[in-house]
Amino acid sequence: MITLDGNKTAKDIKDELAVEVKEITKAGQRPPHLVAVLVGNNGASVTYVNWKVKDCEEVGYKSTLLKLSDTVSEKELLDEIERLNEDDGVDGFIVQLPLPKHIDEQNVIRAIKPEKDVDGFHPENVGKMALNLPTFLPATPAGIIELLDRYNIETGGKHCVVVGRSHIVGMPISVLMSQNHYPGNCTVTITHSRTRNLEKLLKEADIIIAALGKPDFVTGEMVKKGAVVIDVGISRVPDTTKKSGYRIAGDVHFESVSKKSSFITPVPGGVGPMTRAMLLKNTMLAYKMRTH
Ligand code: NDP
Repeated sequence: MITLDGNKTAKDIKDELAVEVKEITKAGQRPPHLVAVLVGNNGASVTYVNWKVKDCEEVGYKSTLLKLSDTVSEKELLDEIERLNEDDGVDGFIVQLPLPKHIDEQNVIRAIKPEKDVDGFHPENVGKMALNLPTFLPATPAGIIELLDRYNIETGGKHCVVVGRSHIVGMPISVLMSQNHYPGNCTVTITHSRTRNLEKLLKEADIIIAALGKPDFVTGEMVKKGAVVIDVGISRVPDTTKKSGYRIAGDVHFESVSKKSSFITPVPGGVGPMTRAMLLKNTMLAYKMRTH
């Protein structure tokens, strides 16, 4: 069994990007610039946005954190987005989700200029992804693909079972795993809360991608020997032995599944750091598209 080390792989990617940034600045050009828009004070969102800013600093990008009050109106947020769309000094930006209930997320996503949509959530970019055209891939699925690629994991002709069909993980990774290139060429089964016989499907899977948000859901007895298991889940589970009062759990019961799997991602330290690294990669892509 091999543990897919997301921390190490993400660091490799960051090191590669840092080298590129050095070359860019040595040539007298400005570095890539990412703006993160944070609306309100949601604890998890604040953490994620701070990580994104720190990641940018680590590789030498410029980053700006734009904090808006949770009482900001949809119109005011859309005006900010328009300003970022038009700002030549900004290569890409993200609006951290979820947004307060009075703001329509789809309106916000659609307002972002597709060329600056480094989250890859704009319908134009989702369409390009589905058609296998060059675009920004959403960071979590892109991170999974990159991990499979960097560990040379065979995917062609394999049966890949994806658990979850969200727009940010389950749906896009299902599309990518079925595409006619490596990593891909899988026969994909996408499952969700209405799926019948999920356990039977999981037992037949060569590759399992679990993205449902239910801690320790996939257990050893549901997994075929030799399966590749990718755990996307991040949940906080109460744990009195921890100082914080909780532990971070994935959707896969690591202890039992790792006894059967050929490759497995840990939580934390698997898909999470890869997701962060892929946002940086997308920002570099946006920079190159704008400056070349
Ligand atoms: P969503 O809640 O948007 O989607 C969950 C999906 O799982 C839904 O499609 C739902 O089905 C399905 N589901 C729920 N229960 C079951 C079940 N019992 N059996 C089968 N399918 C089920 O979650 P996200 O996709 O946003 O996130 C999933 C997990 O991944 C979360 O823990 C999240 O924190 C984590 N995450 C981790 C990231 C990372 O960087 N590592 C990035 C993004 C998310 P239905 O559609 O029928 O409701």
